[in-house]
Amino acid sequence: MDVRTIFIEISYLAASILFILGLRGLSHPDTARRGMHLAEFGMLLAILGTLVNREIVSYEWIIAGLLIGSTIGLAMGLWVPMTAMPQRTALSHAFGALAASLVGISEYYLHGAGLGQFKMGALSFEVLLGSLTTTGSLVAFAKLQGLMPGTPLTYKGQNIFNLSLLAVTVVCFVCLLVFPGASALFYLMLILAFAFGVLLVLPIGAADMPVVIALLNSYAGLAAAATGMVIGNNVLIIAGTLDGGSGFILSIVMCKAMNRSITNVLFGAFGSVSETTQASEGQMHEIGLDDVAVQLAYARQAVFVPGYGMATAQAQHVLRELADALEERGVTVKYAIHPVAGRMPGHMNVLLAEASVPYSQLQELDVINPEFPSTDVAVVIGANDVVNPDARDNPKSIIAGMPILEVDRAKTVVVLKRGQGKGFSGLVNPLFFKPNCGMLYGDAKESLTNLVQAVHNA
Ligand code: NAP
Repeated sequence: MDVRTIFIEISYLAASILFILGLRGLSHPDTARRGMHLAEFGMLLAILGTLVNREIVSYEWIIAGLLIGSTIGLAMGLWVPMTAMPQRTALSHAFGALAASLVGISEYYLHGAGLGQFKMGALSFEVLLGSLTTTGSLVAFAKLQGLMPGTPLTYKGQNIFNLSLLAVTVVCFVCLLVFPGASALFYLMLILAFAFGVLLVLPIGAADMPVVIALLNSYAGLAAAATGMVIGNNVLIIAGTLDGGSGFILSIVMCKAMNRSITNVLFGAFGSVSETTQASEGQMHEIGLDDVAVQLAYARQAVFVPGYGMATAQAQHVLRELADALEERGVTVKYAIHPVAGRMPGHMNVLLAEASVPYSQLQELDVINPEFPSTDVAVVIGANDVVNPDARDNPKSIIAGMPILEVDRAKTVVVLKRGQGKGFSGLVNPLFFKPNCGMLYGDAKESLTNLVQAVHNA
């Protein structure tokens, strides 16, 4: 083994260990930042190891790619708001999966039938998953960015058509294992996989989108792992498998959080307007700022329920100020965190950590729900779907069975939102019509800023 090979192997090994440690760190808010830095360092080592590879043909192309990629990455990191994270992630998956697909296509173009059965299997798997993830992620991006309708697009016989297409694609895959030289089959499989990606995501929409993003993440990772097998790159196999495995676990966790099964997400067309049964009786009651301040100031326990609106208003810091003001008056303050509140997994945890909210005050769904009946005031800050009681009470609702934060069981509920806007899933929320619920209209940050002042004066 020469020095160069030893350097490559050591940097790959170190990178793999750092990826694993990074993932471990990411599993807890206290260590998440450190975990991210470890993974970043691991990626740097993996890139350095790859750059000294003897098979590199032209450094000019690599430098050009590095400059363009780094510029785009930096711009995205700096300017894409956290509320747009799902579509940003979808775009990253699309490019990652396209890269895997292109490597597979070029390997097949160069070596074709000479690849042997094992490599042909890995290559076909890579191209199949990579291609469907590319187009699937682009459709997910378009839906989340509002470039196309975010609701499920369905038609009669859709599942049968999609499954038949998938079956033909899998037949191509199997035939290629036996006849690797049948290039027509390879390119047919490629086209079908691209088409299947579009068709897979079209019928999915509304609150199921986060699960799909996590699933596509998993596919992109597995495609990368298969690329590693084809080109004999160990770090790609390990990183891809970690990515694929963690993405899959995340999909399962999110499905559980929403009480849905993966098959239901993929084939259930959740969020389709035609299936929606909504209850929206009565009137919403507006409540004044001073009344809310008095209720809060004299409460024994207040529970804050942050949602997407808090994120988009960037109101986490002023929310913390309100909590401080209340705690000074002896009020017990807790934060109720729903697993899919906001627009990305852990969204609320990240924002509240940014505002230095003590982690011990963050309560998960099953811990906080039994506490609502003894809570004097539940303050909903720009949340909607995650507090929609229809999920619990209306079996005909499309979100029936999804676990919610049961704020309606608190003695009083105050909802801070700008107007009559619906949540991500487009449903009317009967909570807002309940007699114990008052609406404080306005931008979340502005309302909270005024509330801090009013609580001081109360
Ligand atoms: P939501 O259901 O999307 O509702 C957010 C509410 O915030 C809206 O009703 C809106 O009403 C209000 N709002 C928006 N801007 C505001 C502002 N500046 N100030 C005050 N209020 C504002 O939010 P959620 O309850 O957090 O539920 C999250 C939803 O997103 C779920 O359906 C979830 O499945 C989905 N999702 C989650 C993820 C994830 O990974 N967490 C990813 C993608 C999608 P007004 O317009 O009237 O103000």
